[in-house]
Amino acid sequence: DPVIALKDVSVEFKNKNKVVQAVHNVTLEVDRGDVFGIVGYSGAGKSTLIRTINLLQKPTSGEVIVNGQQITKISAKELRKSREKIGMIFQHFNLMNSLNVVDNVILSLGHSSLSKREKCQRATELLHLVGLSGKEKVYPRQLSGGQKQRVAIARALANNPEILLSDESTSALDPQTTASILTLLKRLNRELGLTIVLITHQLEVAEDICNRIAVINDGELVEQAESYQILLNP
Ligand code: ADP
Ligand code: ADP
Repeated sequence: DPVIALKDVSVEFKNKNKVVQAVHNVTLEVDRGDVFGIVGYSGAGKSTLIRTINLLQKPTSGEVIVNGQQITKISAKELRKSREKIGMIFQHFNLMNSLNVVDNVILSLGHSSLSKREKCQRATELLHLVGLSGKEKVYPRQLSGGQKQRVAIARALANNPEILLSDESTSALDPQTTASILTLLKRLNRELGLTIVLITHQLEVAEDICNRIAVINDGELVEQAESYQILLNP
């Protein structure tokens, strides 16, 4: 079974008298272990679409099924549980600048039943996993963009999610740093079995790490294929 299925998902925004159809009848399936890319120009609807997967954006119509649950139809409690299995990273990292690196990660461990010491240990392990051992006590402003994104990835992994959503996570980074973050994401996919859904306006980013790519244009899915097929038919 697919881990994520979108069925005829549409999202409309009403701005004053104008209706913007940001996402129009999108149907797609993401299998467990996929690195699934959603590619399109700025304004195509990628961000709106990916946000429906954790219901940060409620669809106007259609079904969003995550791990077999139709998440638009479940209770608030069940939705919280579903969201725990989904981590998310962003273009601008969303770190707490007033907290050092290890405390940023501890914050994401939230209300888990771990003791303070266990939380610190777990956060340190997560930082090791993303290649930031030794940076625990450093503040975000002292880090490079790539290092900040690694902290954000550690935060996103805090609750052992099955799915990682990436919203333009390399768009603020130079090509070399982009490559190193993509290498990390590939490793997490392989070693943790993490399913990754990433959106990007850079086809080469998707081609680098995705096994499947969907192309979205003006809110509509115009192509969906194995990434080598997209490569042959740009
Ligand atoms: P992308 O991520 O591909 O750049 P978005 O999903 O951000 O595209 O935006 C798709 C369309 O929906 C754009 O026309 C955008 O202006 C519009 N849009 C996005 N969010 C909102 C919102 N909260 N209110 C109104 N319009 C929005
Ligand atoms: P503070 O005012 O405590 O110093 P920041 O200004 O450093 O916080 O916050 C940085 C960004 O992180 C803000 O845009 C905020 O919305 C975001 N943020 C706050 N809490 C979280 C969280 N739990 N997960 C992700 N981002 C968060």
